[in-house]
Amino acid sequence: MPKSPVRVRLKQAGERAVRTGHPWVFADSIRSENRPGEVGDLATVYDRKDRFVAIGIYDPQSPIRIRILHAGKPRAIDDQFRRERIESAIAGRVGLLDAQTNGFRVINGESDGWPGLVLDRYAETAVVKIYCGHWLLHLEELTALIREQIEVDNVVLRLSRNLQEFAKERLNRADGELLVGEVEDPVVFRENGILFEAAVRAGQKTGFFLDQRDNRKEVQALSKERSVLNCFSFSGGFSLYAARGGARSVADLDISQHALDSAERNFELNREEAPIVTCERRQILGNAFDWLREDSTERFGLIVTDPPSLAKKAADREGALVAYGLLARSAVKKLDPDGILVAASCSAHVRADEFFDRVLTTVRQSGRRFRELKRTGHAPDHPASFREAEYLKCIFLEIE
Ligand code: SAH
Repeated sequence: MPKSPVRVRLKQAGERAVRTGHPWVFADSIRSENRPGEVGDLATVYDRKDRFVAIGIYDPQSPIRIRILHAGKPRAIDDQFRRERIESAIAGRVGLLDAQTNGFRVINGESDGWPGLVLDRYAETAVVKIYCGHWLLHLEELTALIREQIEVDNVVLRLSRNLQEFAKERLNRADGELLVGEVEDPVVFRENGILFEAAVRAGQKTGFFLDQRDNRKEVQALSKERSVLNCFSFSGGFSLYAARGGARSVADLDISQHALDSAERNFELNREEAPIVTCERRQILGNAFDWLREDSTERFGLIVTDPPSLAKKAADREGALVAYGLLARSAVKKLDPDGILVAASCSAHVRADEFFDRVLTTVRQSGRRFRELKRTGHAPDHPASFREAEYLKCIFLEIE
């Protein structure tokens, strides 16, 4: 039996944040709690006059101690609640994607009212990634709800690292396990008509980076006749789009052979597509920071830099900005005249404005004139309902 929720009172600023719709309560905003909370617990927030403020998921392992499920009038967190929440996430995505795309995000955590839970769909396989122990206590019901609502054959469970021990010891559940169905890892899905594999049981995140879909499409439109360098290429997402857009050549640069092998398979999957299969290709196994700094005469017509998160915590923010500056500086040096730089950041602790400023300042220092083509954020199936959820930003510059 789940325990009754931990009862908490918050400091004034924390209570105000929750009342105005912020989904996080940090540990240092908590004034008092009636018992120590455990992984899996819910927490109810009351004000000074003992009136209900909100209910959320208690997480003793995280500085984000409570993730709000519902604020306002009291309501039960039950089957009906979860059904309404998934229905509204699905309704919010109607019309966003065409029939050429069957890999997309169905639930984007807090921003869809599901704190600590992400649901991605890849063709007939759903991947539910869980970051809060509470959801583990409802797995059977969640699986049934997912199958009913999005009609998939398979449901894969992915667990954040900090939950793996709890899941194993308390519930005998493991990261990558199938909750229903049978799948060969990786599975193949379609994004804007291009076939990709997603390593749903063992890959990073849920197996693919769906959040870059629209930026990849932009790159496709800019790649004609250009030689393209895709830094931090992972499974070659940007490269396949560039090839389809008529790039003269594409080079994937990644530190992981595993990632480059996946890119190879993705090109193979699309061998029926003329511009993709005829595009000249190359792979570079190496550290992108070092490779870009190397003194070579090779120049490119378009360079993408999309590193992994460079700031795991707030204290890493300045170091990350320095690294983004270094990347932009060395990428610009390797660009042909009128070349295009596509610089992305997925570090949640680095704000969009400071990332854009750092890239622009660095490019200005190069002495080359440039024109800003575009700034973008998340693909629309990755809504962000509060500032901290806006992690992805990308800037497109044409450099003289
Ligand atoms: N652009 C990709 C996603 C990038 S994920 C896409 O569109 O899908 C980040 C990638 O960076 C991973 O594949 C990881 O292996 C790679 N990586 C991490 N550190 C690196 C480094 N120093 N140099 C090159 N690649 C790196």
